[in-house]
Amino acid sequence: MDIVSRKEALREILAEKRAQKERAEREADRVRERIAKDVPVYADLSGAISGILLETNRRALADPARARDIAAEGRARVLALQKEAEGALRAAGHTVEELKPKYACPVCKDTGFVGSPVHEYCSCVKVALMRRLYEAAGIGEETFEHFDANVFSDEVDEKIGKSQRQIMEEHRLYCERYADNLPDVQRRNLLLVGRTGLGKTFLLNCISARLLERGKAVLRLTAYRMLDTMRRYHMGTDDGGMEMMTNAEVLAIDDLGTEPMLENITVEYLFTLLNERRANRLPTLVATNLTPRELQSRYTERIFSRLVDRGETKVLRFFGRDVRLHDETRGRA
Ligand SMILES: [Zn+2]
Repeated sequence: MDIVSRKEALREILAEKRAQKERAEREADRVRERIAKDVPVYADLSGAISGILLETNRRALADPARARDIAAEGRARVLALQKEAEGALRAAGHTVEELKPKYACPVCKDTGFVGSPVHEYCSCVKVALMRRLYEAAGIGEETFEHFDANVFSDEVDEKIGKSQRQIMEEHRLYCERYADNLPDVQRRNLLLVGRTGLGKTFLLNCISARLLERGKAVLRLTAYRMLDTMRRYHMGTDDGGMEMMTNAEVLAIDDLGTEPMLENITVEYLFTLLNERRANRLPTLVATNLTPRELQSRYTERIFSRLVDRGETKVLRFFGRDVRLHDETRGRA
């Protein structure tokens, strides 16, 4: 079971940044050595600059009263030599740019931090962190920012009085508000009901992504994997997955109803899981292709009543045409 802790992911990312920084600087050293051989004048001037810097430092330390003047004088000499050195480089067909380390992130120069005196993670670290957490949760690019209701039909359904697009806009709004406010929400659980291809998984991923961004530990998995964990727990070969599902700050189960029905396992452990999470007031999000009636007959009344409990669960119904099939037809036409 791969729930990645934020701390662990951050540590890995910062270690990668460090390695990246070293690589960039080592490569820049190699380039400098090569150019020094190529353009001896440049090498001589560089040596002279280093010498002036050292000398300036030494003199400033020895004569604190004049330190400021000494530093200014040193700077002026260095600048003049730098100009000369750059001229020599250009004359030999090189550029100053070549000498600079090629950092993957020019903003933080691959240190991972910005700001002074208060250090903050650079946005490259934040982005990498989110990507890693999404990956671990199997979310990918499915975030509210990528949600596009226009893929759904705007044809008004006679029976419902709304179009699929309107319904999806409403669901998106509800889900985004939920993800932004959890745990300060009226109903802590969500049940997304509807046939395949109507956007349930997408919204479930959007919610998970937003919650991860907010630093919540979301465990997102398919019902199939949930059941596999339960089966292992039943056989005594569980590696802590059952405990993680039971205690995850937020648990998101996708595709409930597609997992096999195992005697003494599926119904029994699902009931225990939902019950324990309920007792601990932990939010559980479930997406299912089954209709309420099918849920009831498959999982028994006691699980059903937990799943749709009006006081604690908001049920979102999905209607309309399968977006994926729709897309395919359009592609072929
Ligand atoms: Zn950066």
